[in-house]
Amino acid sequence: MSNSKAKNKYSKNKKKNASKAMLFLSNILNERNFTQTTLADSVAKSIIRLGKRHGIRAKKNKYNKICRTCQSSMIPGKSSRIRISNGFILNTCMTCQRIYRFRLDNQDSEKYNDKTSTICN
Ligand SMILES: [Zn+2]
Repeated sequence: MSNSKAKNKYSKNKKKNASKAMLFLSNILNERNFTQTTLADSVAKSIIRLGKRHGIRAKKNKYNKICRTCQSSMIPGKSSRIRISNGFILNTCMTCQRIYRFRLDNQDSEKYNDKTSTICN
């Protein structure tokens, strides 16, 4: 291939398109399509796949809605269970039983979601 320059330009656009797609997918999760679990699941899968392939991330609060172990959506009361204990919010994935733990007192500041600790059963 002699057109490496053109290829570079192409991959730049690709990343741009990927971020656009990521935004689009995140909005779908936002729109409370909670009755359609299959849709939410495939959106979750796509977000994880896109992020891995292009090195981009969805907004932190979107990641709270996605189980990274089984790559499905976590819908409170449906595919995830939320409990509060000892100042922590325990978000359990009903598919693979993974528990995501968030500190309750730091909930209002998004940056603390970075330090989300997880426990595996
Ligand atoms: Zn899971």
